[in-house]
Amino acid sequence: MAPVVNPTETEISEKYDYDLIVVGGGSGGLAASKRAAALGAKVAVFDFVKPTPVGTTWGLGGTCVNVGCVPKKLMHQGALLRQHIHDAKIYGWKVGETETHVWEELVEKVQDYIGSQNFGFRVSLRDKGVKYINAYVTFVDQHTVKAVDKRGNVTFHTADKFIIAVGMRPNYPDIAGAKDYAITSDDIFSLPYPPGKTVVVGASYIALECGGFLNGLGFEVTVLVRSILLRGFDQECAERVGEYMKAEGVEFMRGFVPRKITQIEPGTPAKLKIEAKNNSTGEIAEIECNTVLFAIGRTACTESLNLESIGVKVNSKTSKVIVNEAEQSSVNNIYAIGDVIEGKLELTPVAVQAGQLLSQRLFGKGKVLMDYVNVPTTVFTPLEYGCCGYSEEDAHEKFGKDNIEVHHNLFQPLEWVIGQKAGVCYAKLVCKNDDNRVIGFHIIAPNAGEMTQGFALALRIGAKKEDFDSLVGIHPTNAEVFTVLDITKSSGKELVASGCGGGT
Ligand code: FAD
Ligand code: NDP
Repeated sequence: MAPVVNPTETEISEKYDYDLIVVGGGSGGLAASKRAAALGAKVAVFDFVKPTPVGTTWGLGGTCVNVGCVPKKLMHQGALLRQHIHDAKIYGWKVGETETHVWEELVEKVQDYIGSQNFGFRVSLRDKGVKYINAYVTFVDQHTVKAVDKRGNVTFHTADKFIIAVGMRPNYPDIAGAKDYAITSDDIFSLPYPPGKTVVVGASYIALECGGFLNGLGFEVTVLVRSILLRGFDQECAERVGEYMKAEGVEFMRGFVPRKITQIEPGTPAKLKIEAKNNSTGEIAEIECNTVLFAIGRTACTESLNLESIGVKVNSKTSKVIVNEAEQSSVNNIYAIGDVIEGKLELTPVAVQAGQLLSQRLFGKGKVLMDYVNVPTTVFTPLEYGCCGYSEEDAHEKFGKDNIEVHHNLFQPLEWVIGQKAGVCYAKLVCKNDDNRVIGFHIIAPNAGEMTQGFALALRIGAKKEDFDSLVGIHPTNAEVFTVLDITKSSGKELVASGCGGGT
């Protein structure tokens, strides 16, 4: 038998068109392709957006920048400004008695910003020497892809290695009228007319964030909740987030799932009727509205990649690519990162870091694997909810209820002590009794994302409750509440919001 001789880098480059082809130009794909090119690899990235059922499409950059984090945060900010106008009056500012919001102006500004980002991505790929091809990719074999551009031109491209970073797209339920009359998060941020009264279906991240900013911008919002709010998150915190939204005017219909959507009158927005059924009581409800927004989960975009026929294993239930701890699929030259991989987190910074580390390992001397543990996240609901590590219920399940103590309290931001809501901001640390390590951090407050980012470092390096206690607070801030969390859940002591950040 002939000895196995590994080809040299020059031989690989001559054998294939590229050292690396990245399929998908979103958060993960762009990060991986730029890092690989910086390390000297010959790289191409293919990105193609299939229009939504109502025809929405967008440019290079993937979900986050076009139809995800970026427009969501801008619209969240737009909604918060209404609250700030209200607060300004309390602080003595004389502003008009009634404020009006022009949806089209916000959409235009948001889309202008996104357009500048799309352009910036193209420029940075060019500057880094990455070839960008706007075409839809399907695998032909382990080293070849077929690419079809928007005019239908077909080309074939080969590479030594591949990274699949195709992300996910929103689900539609199998009910009458779903694709004819409803939209998803893929459409809302560029909707050219005000959505009007909106029914949001679903109760996770995307549903509550979209419902939250639409309500804040002045639209009537009803959320159809199939079971619980924010599945996977600390349920006490999820309920507090929901209570705040309810107090802000969002209606929650618990236990209801949609059955059909009909159009009463066309228009922009149209007049629609959504019929929903309560799964436990059997009650049927008919809601008239202008927009139905589905946020009922997302499916990985692997369906037409032809992966199974080339040996790449995909979970048939989730359509996600199965990878090992080095993000390698069942075919050894094909890797996957970001939302498309099975069992990991669907977050932009995760996709970016995993992509950079993977390229570093493939084309540099990198050895570091992506660490998917203790990743912080924030739900940008009207009152933000940031967390890192275990929820209270997951900690009970993993370590046993007797080995867990929860330290918590309500607090009142100092900015809110004149005239605004009390008893809504909440801080919680989930700790292990045996070593007093903090394994769960939870905060419901304005700017929770900013606070969570820094404290996540403490969890990452194994901070204990006494480390939080000996930390000196910054006064007056909200974050200082974590230096004085002295009510344990086991004590059953009543929570009382102190004057500011919990510090005094
Ligand atoms: P994507 O960014 O989705 O990129 C995949 C790209 O591949 C897309 O451009 C797609 O069109 C393209 N593609 C697919 N198939 C093919 C093919 N066959 N050929 C060529 N191209 C193809 N995360 C956060 O961290 N913070 C947030 O606040 C946040 N908010 C979000 C809000 C919303 C409404 C949504 C939907 C998501 C949000 N996320 C947030 C999640 C975040 O957007 C994703 O985790 C991230 O974009 C995943 O990056 P990715 O590279 O895996 O995929
Ligand atoms: P999820 O899969 O997390 O949640 C789906 C929601 O829809 C659940 O509430 C679920 O209810 C409900 N649902 C599912 N099917 C139906 C149905 N047929 N009828 C009615 N309700 C239904 O999806 P999301 O789309 O909210 O989020 C996807 C991912 O995007 C998240 O995991 C997250 O990582 C990422 N993301 C991150 C954000 C951030 O960092 N701030 C913001 C937005 C998204 P049930 O609980 O009963 O199953």
